[in-house]
Amino acid sequence: MSEGSQPGGTHCDLLVVGGGPAGLATALAARQRGVERVVVIDGQRPPIDKPCGEGLMPDGVRQLEALGVTLPQGRFAPIAGIRYVDGPTTAEGSFPAEVGLGIRRTLLHAAMVEAAHKAEIELRWTTKATALLPATLDDPASNIDRQSPAGVETASEPITARWVVAADGLNSRLRGWAGLDERPSRVARRPRRFAVRRHFRIAPWSDKVEVHWSDGAEAYVTPVGAGEVGVALLVAGQSARFEPLLARFPALAARLQGAEVASRIQGRGPLERRARGVTRGRLALVGDAGGYVDAITGEGLSLAFHQAIALATAIHRDALAEYARAHGRIGRLPNGITRLMLAMERRPRLRRMVVRALAAEPQLFNRVLAVHCRHLPLARFGAANAARLAKWLLLTSGS
Ligand SMILES: Cc1cc2nc3c(=O)[nH]c(=O)nc-3n(C[C@H](O)[C@H](O)[C@H](O)COP(=O)(O)OP(=O)(O)OC[C@H]3O[C@@H](n4cnc5c(N)ncnc54)[C@H](O)[C@@H]3O)c2cc1C
Repeated sequence: MSEGSQPGGTHCDLLVVGGGPAGLATALAARQRGVERVVVIDGQRPPIDKPCGEGLMPDGVRQLEALGVTLPQGRFAPIAGIRYVDGPTTAEGSFPAEVGLGIRRTLLHAAMVEAAHKAEIELRWTTKATALLPATLDDPASNIDRQSPAGVETASEPITARWVVAADGLNSRLRGWAGLDERPSRVARRPRRFAVRRHFRIAPWSDKVEVHWSDGAEAYVTPVGAGEVGVALLVAGQSARFEPLLARFPALAARLQGAEVASRIQGRGPLERRARGVTRGRLALVGDAGGYVDAITGEGLSLAFHQAIALATAIHRDALAEYARAHGRIGRLPNGITRLMLAMERRPRLRRMVVRALAAEPQLFNRVLAVHCRHLPLARFGAANAARLAKWLLLTSGS
């Protein structure tokens, strides 16, 4: 029997499967709302690493603070905005008022684990869910049968709970077990994108996340500390090796030449996953498990934190259906922006026009970022700004 396990299994109010950022955020938010016994299980050991651009949008920083997570001083880098580099053209936009930050995933994870300990959340590492207890999928409104509780099987014991949260990432097994995976025929029709990342010991040369564009691939450079940057490479079509992919960005490759590597290469993909729904019975999906579009806008973490807070609120109110609605609302604008960016990524001429327009109108770029990080409601982006953007697109379309 593992540490903390009980004869006949453990029972709790909320079981979170997956102790990554989405799972820990859900557990923290649930404890803040008074949910009593919260158990988080994860197949890995902390601190958990994962391929990620490691840039946190300003609203994500705010959510982390609200969840009671304290980041280690001096071990992250403030991020003031985004810089696009497309051949000879550079466009820079600044975040409004607050800054975002770049932080290694392992440090973010350690900080979230520390907050979870303080919140008296039970954390069980190297504990993998191996199956879903069938009653988890029963409609909670139709006679909750206490003899058939919700929960999961693990190698050592069943863990039962009033509510089960699947926060098990992009390849979520729980999503599949719950019948919420997208149909394979639809997945096969979609363009596929892959990612690889690595860190380099080099002083960041910008306080912005730098996005280098090339046809069919992008490179993201995120300052993650005083002497370190993370480089994430995204590519359409098929998975690729880091070095040949980096060579597609000669200016960046030249800058990194000779810098000491600070992490092993990790890859992920295909990136886009959709779920047929984010709730079923007493199960809810959160974070990447509930669907993911692409890393091109670098806001999976912020989205996960917003979802986690909405989910914990719905659980506290015993009204999971509210979460399903909130999930749709939370994702609508960011997913829309991500799809626009992907459309731009597939059309190099359009992409060059947009980057030139943003380079010529930095104030416009600032406003786009203000909408992107939820500082400015879309309705207040303004017809005048949309017209300015359209004007620049028209002006640059001939050049
Ligand atoms: C290349 C790349 C760049 C990105 N860049 C950014 C960025 O700059 N900024 C940003 O905000 N987001 C970025 N993202 C997105 C971000 O990384 C994800 O949205 C975020 O990690 C989602 O967190 P999660 O907790 O849902 O999933 P994960 O972080 O994947 O955590 C899932 C956890 O579930 C556990 N697990 C899985 N199966 C089981 C099981 N059966 N039982 C128990 N535990 C299990 C795993 O061990 C893991 O710890 C990027 C993504 C990629 C791929």
